[in-house]
Amino acid sequence: MVTFKDGQWVDDDKAVVSVRSRALNYGMGCFGGIRGYLADDGHEVFVFRLRAHVERLAHSAKILYLRMPGSIEETSRILVELLRRNEVHQDIYVRPLLLHNSNALAPVLDIESTSFIAFCMPLKRYIDKDAIRVCVSSWRRVRDNAIPSRTKPTGAYLNSALARREAFDNGFDEAIFLTEDGKVSEGSAEHIFIVRRGVLVSPPSTEDNLDGITRRSIIAMATEDLGLPFEERSIGRSELYVADEMFLCGTGAQITPVASVDHREIGDTTIGPITARLKQYFDDVVHGRVEQRKKWLTPVWG
Ligand code: PMP
Repeated sequence: MVTFKDGQWVDDDKAVVSVRSRALNYGMGCFGGIRGYLADDGHEVFVFRLRAHVERLAHSAKILYLRMPGSIEETSRILVELLRRNEVHQDIYVRPLLLHNSNALAPVLDIESTSFIAFCMPLKRYIDKDAIRVCVSSWRRVRDNAIPSRTKPTGAYLNSALARREAFDNGFDEAIFLTEDGKVSEGSAEHIFIVRRGVLVSPPSTEDNLDGITRRSIIAMATEDLGLPFEERSIGRSELYVADEMFLCGTGAQITPVASVDHREIGDTTIGPITARLKQYFDDVVHGRVEQRKKWLTPVWG
């Protein structure tokens, strides 16, 4: 596939980074993760919330002393061109990546050494199950005042990887992080929603979780379009066990129902009624079937 690297369009195997790069040695960089959905006509591809993703990348860049390749519009144009150059007519994942790409030894945040890379890959499902069994991880979420968790910093994904590995080793499908203070934070790459007595609840981003775009979109769809009550508040571990419904969400996971938490079953272990409604609506929105939400979609070919 064709990849963008520092102003050039190159084959994937030409988009390389030195073994000496700080980006590799110290995990110094940040990235985005964006989805494009094949439309019902089998030709058009709708990129979901492109602008919001590029804005979040710009916020990460600001926090981590990295330079964007241009304005929000210019960066968005590069990402759309990436899909055009790869002649994409399928469900796709786009990964913009900003790296501290200097070969100097010390871990210094030097904006001048920024590399901007963007590549894409076909992606259907990130979690290949209809409802998943999750556990609360023994690993705690990295704190925002240790490695800023509202960004997507490359190095912090070791935290996610440790939690996922532990979950898999123990026979679960995914891990739930608590904060150092014992509040529910997020999954390894997903946000958390529960339903209690008809109210949708999700913890705030101050609970050391990413500034999540799927989460924000679900809150907007639930409250503005579907009239569902929503509360943003802290969730304790044991509250997960007594939730009526629970789901994880994210660009990869989309809306993934949770069947059990630490072996405590949630509902009838399939998908609850509110989750099912949201999941169907989300699917309609990302495929361009909901007129009022088309503003969230960037057509690649249209
Ligand atoms: N948390 C983490 C740690 C993630 O990596 C992701 C995936 N980007 C999410 C949550 C979900 O965020 P979003 O909806 O913006 O993809």
